[in-house]
Amino acid sequence: MSRPPIIARTLPALRRALDGFHAKSGAIALVPTMGALHDGHVALVRLAKRRAARVAVSIFVNPSQFAPTEDFGSYPRTWKADVARLAAEGVDLIWNPDVKTMYPAGFATRILTEGPATAGLEDRFRPHFFAGVATVVGKLFMQCRPDIALFGEKDFQQLRVVAQMARDLDLGVRVIGAPTVRERDGLAMSSRNVYLSPEQRRVAPVLYRTMKATAQRLRGGDDLDAAMAGGAELITAAGFALDYFEARHAQTLAPVQSIKDGPIRLLVAAMLGSTRLIDNVAV
Ligand code: AMP
Repeated sequence: MSRPPIIARTLPALRRALDGFHAKSGAIALVPTMGALHDGHVALVRLAKRRAARVAVSIFVNPSQFAPTEDFGSYPRTWKADVARLAAEGVDLIWNPDVKTMYPAGFATRILTEGPATAGLEDRFRPHFFAGVATVVGKLFMQCRPDIALFGEKDFQQLRVVAQMARDLDLGVRVIGAPTVRERDGLAMSSRNVYLSPEQRRVAPVLYRTMKATAQRLRGGDDLDAAMAGGAELITAAGFALDYFEARHAQTLAPVQSIKDGPIRLLVAAMLGSTRLIDNVAV
């Protein structure tokens, strides 16, 4: 049985813990999360354990990546269960700052990202989002000084934005993406899935099923526009209000005209009632 994780809530406590880690050799991994942990988060932790001697997990529901109309207040918070899960996984450190620690009175700096952050996907519908994410992740990287950081492909544009930011700012962190963990019926695991009613939960896997079928059509040589339009129709017919369903270059997220412009990623965001779901697959 490994030692229970150190829980740090203040910067001095975090530094003390990290000093102890740095005194010993071996890489440090960081897994940033907003808590309400599920098997997708645990997969990131397990990957981190394989790649690094020490694993830190941050749990911080970051207000600056939520618009006033979004679900910051009601975002699921399951602290006790999260700590138990991370302890069972042998995590070394849980970094759980409060909002005042991350954004003290007078806080006035933001990291603004371009490139993948302005690809016209999430940024079109959540214009505040990537500045919030880049700023908080930049802070987490500087606070924790990890060698590697693990992010889920589930949030594909975010993964690209964070990797670009770490590179551009010479933060010395290698950003590693991990495959999306899904429920048995294909729905991508998400802390927000608890918002779905039983009926919506039944419909939700249509997103993944449609993306997979569309990817298969494209691999079979179907016309890109026709395949995407067909997919969009199926998603809408199932009861979703579609924000976007797009084929993009998997690295740059630039629009593509044909499968030959690849590697291609299909990305989707759609509302099911008042719950917004996102997902993506490789072609
Ligand atoms: P969140 O707590 O939703 O901010 O997510 C924290 C990290 O977990 C991010 O890097 C997400 O991309 C990742 N993540 C969330 N859901 C999944 C999933 N179903 N599979 C893999 N990674 C995930």
